[in-house]
Amino acid sequence: MYEACGNANTMGNIKRTGENMAKITRAQLAQRKRIEFYKKIIVYGFLVMTILPIFTSLFLFYKVGQLEKKLDYALSEQGRDYLTLQSSRNALLDNPNAQSGVFVESVKSVLGNAEVNTNSTKSTEDGTTELPLANTSVDNEGDNVATTEGAAKANEELADVTPEASVAQTNGKRVYLTFDDGPSIYTGQILDVLKANNVKATFFVIGRDEEFYSYYKRIVDEGHTIGLHSYSHVYQDFYASKESFAEELTKLNDLIYNVTGTKSSIFRFPGGSSNNVSSLPVQEYIDYLNDNDIDYYDWNSLSGDAVTNGLSPQQLVNNIMNDVSQNEDSIVLMHDLQTTHTTVESLQLLIDTLKRDGYEILPIDENTPLIQHVAAETVEE
Ligand SMILES: [Zn+2]
Repeated sequence: MYEACGNANTMGNIKRTGENMAKITRAQLAQRKRIEFYKKIIVYGFLVMTILPIFTSLFLFYKVGQLEKKLDYALSEQGRDYLTLQSSRNALLDNPNAQSGVFVESVKSVLGNAEVNTNSTKSTEDGTTELPLANTSVDNEGDNVATTEGAAKANEELADVTPEASVAQTNGKRVYLTFDDGPSIYTGQILDVLKANNVKATFFVIGRDEEFYSYYKRIVDEGHTIGLHSYSHVYQDFYASKESFAEELTKLNDLIYNVTGTKSSIFRFPGGSSNNVSSLPVQEYIDYLNDNDIDYYDWNSLSGDAVTNGLSPQQLVNNIMNDVSQNEDSIVLMHDLQTTHTTVESLQLLIDTLKRDGYEILPIDENTPLIQHVAAETVEE
């Protein structure tokens, strides 16, 4: 009985103790949660307080660097000229009675002896700059870029100065845009963009059906350079022998002559002069070209439009801008192919970017440096 009572008391104590323990545990849990919460606030707060200032300082350092560059440029000779030209131009535009001659005079006064064109024709170089030939090997058309070294010294001058055109300073570098494998369904659009921008380019064409004949004619009539690129563009046929090589070029040039009234005297090897698809040593074909006074041109810049499908117009332009910045004279390889629509989509952006950065865009002519992966002079006359 006593024991029983004692047992009962003991049970009661145990029950109360259990309740107390439960209360303590709940309290402890709540406290732990609070501690965890404060810990998190402290850790995150610390991270924000340290990382944010670091990033802010890095950003500000970057901005300061940029501004310093701008300031240096503004204080340099070119920058002064540029700013003065801009203000002269703005003053002219603000004054409706001003004559364009006034603007030209003010430009001349700023530039001193520099040459100023009053019409839209470009200032040209003396045209006798010679480049050492590149030796880079190329496996496939468009897979590699030859680099030229020791190019002609840059010649500072101002081109295309008109009251209408924005004032741009040339960087003394020349870019030759070339389109291979046309005519195609995109030739018309490419020609339209070039025309709208008053830019002349070079088309290395192949033989096509009558429905494309009008494009050969437009290329020539609109002042572009037309070049040969084989009739078939089938490597094993074209490069089968020296005879097949000669036959295709003659057939193509006859077609061009019949349609346009002019013959072409320039050529681009399908796959480049350093291709590994021709049956004979490339010197055999070069020998034929030399005998027939046909100059051939490879490239030292390329967009990659035919190498990888799916490059955005901006990426194509970035590829080209990266290449042309490394040469005084750049021959840019692009394609006028049924399958490469990004070429025409990127063309306006390319022209805008080249002009903005001061490049002169020219068609290939007799003054263009012979940019060749395998040099013509490796063949004895
Ligand atoms: Zn080609």
